[in-house]
Amino acid sequence: ASTSKPLDIDPSKLVVEKTTKPGPLKKPEELIFGANFTDHMLTIEWNKTTGWLEPHITPYQNLSLDPATCVFHYAFECFEGMKAYKDKQGKIRLFRPDKNMERFNKSAARIALPTFAPTALIDLISKLVKIDSRFIPEQRGYSLYLRPTMIGTQKTLGVGAPGSALLYVIASPVGPYYPTGFKAVSLEATNYAVRAWPGGVGDKKLGANYAPCIVPQREAMSRGFQQNLWLFGEEEFVTEVGTMNFFVALKNKETGQKELITAPLDGTILEGVTRDSVLSLARERLAPEGWKIEERKYTMAELDEAASEGRLIEAFGAGTAAIVSPVRCISWKGKLVNCGLQEHEESGEIATKMKNWIEARQYGDDKHEWSYVC
Ligand code: PMP
Repeated sequence: ASTSKPLDIDPSKLVVEKTTKPGPLKKPEELIFGANFTDHMLTIEWNKTTGWLEPHITPYQNLSLDPATCVFHYAFECFEGMKAYKDKQGKIRLFRPDKNMERFNKSAARIALPTFAPTALIDLISKLVKIDSRFIPEQRGYSLYLRPTMIGTQKTLGVGAPGSALLYVIASPVGPYYPTGFKAVSLEATNYAVRAWPGGVGDKKLGANYAPCIVPQREAMSRGFQQNLWLFGEEEFVTEVGTMNFFVALKNKETGQKELITAPLDGTILEGVTRDSVLSLARERLAPEGWKIEERKYTMAELDEAASEGRLIEAFGAGTAAIVSPVRCISWKGKLVNCGLQEHEESGEIATKMKNWIEARQYGDDKHEWSYVC
C-alpha cells in the first residue's frame, strides 16, 4: 500500500488541447446570461488513491457519465460564480478569486468532495481565460462569467463519500444585468417556503440548494414580484433575496443615526463576495460620514415599522451577477412595504455608489488588491 500523500492540483502539469473549430462571437448586445460558452473548458479529475490528476484545457465538450454516477442520485455537486473583466489596457482581471476558491473548498468539503490549493486553481483559471480572451467583451458592464463546478463521479448507488470527482470550469460571456440602467425590483416576502435553516447547508454553494427555490420564485412572479425575500422563523428574520445577499439602509428609531444593515453569517446566509465587498467599502467610505455598518439579525416587522415612519432609506440585493439590485417594495402580509425610492427613481444613493465603487475595482480603474491580473 502506498503511503504517499494524495496529490494536490498541479498547474505545471497542465495539458492544453486547443480547438480546431473556434466558435463565432455573439454581438455583445445579443448575449443572454449563461447561454453562450467559450471555445474551451478546464477539467481536473480526482480519485481518492492518487489525488488530483493532471489538469486539462480542452475544446468545450459534453461530459460522458454512467447513469449510476453519484452526482445524479445524491446531488454531489457544488459550484462557484465569478467573473473575468477586461481593463482599459486589455489585461484580464479576476475579482477577489481567493474568496471564491475559499467558498468552493468549504462547499466541497461539506459534501465529502475533495479540496485543493486555491492558488493552483486560480492559476489554471487564468490560463483558461487567457486562451479564451477573445470572448471577453471590452465594454464596461460586460464580462466573462466563470462557473467552477465540482461533481462526485463514483458510479455506484451506495450512499457514501465519492471515491472520484471531477472539477471543471466553463466560461460564458455576459452583458450588464440591467442593460438600460438600474431597474428597481419588487419582492415577495416568503415565509411558506424556507431557503436555509440553522445547521443546514444554506451557507454553502450546493446545487441542491437552488432547485427547490424555483417553484416559490415562479409563484412570486405569478403575483407580479420578481424575487423572493427569504424570511426565517416565527420572528420573520430577513435573510437573503433570490440569489443575492440583502442590505437595508435606515435611520435608527431612537438615535436617528443612519445604519446600513445586512444579516449576519450565522450559517443560513451565503457568504457573498459582493456582500463582503459592500461591507468593506461601507466601513471604509460610509462610516466616516456617520453611517453605522451592521451585520445583525433584523425582522420584516422592523423594516415595515421603519418604512411607515419614513425611516427606511433604501434596500438592495448584492451579488456577482448584478453587483447591486435596488428594491422598490416588498409585499408582506397583504401590504406593500415601500423601500424608500421615489416613484421616478430606480436606485438609491448607496446602491448607486456601491455599484460604481465595486465596478471601478473590478475593471481596474481603482487599482486595488481585490483585482487579480491574470
Ligand atoms: N446568496 C445566494 C444564495 C447566492 O446564490 C449568491 C450568488 N453566489 C449570493 C448570495 C451572492 O454571492 P456573491 O456576491 O458571491 O455572488
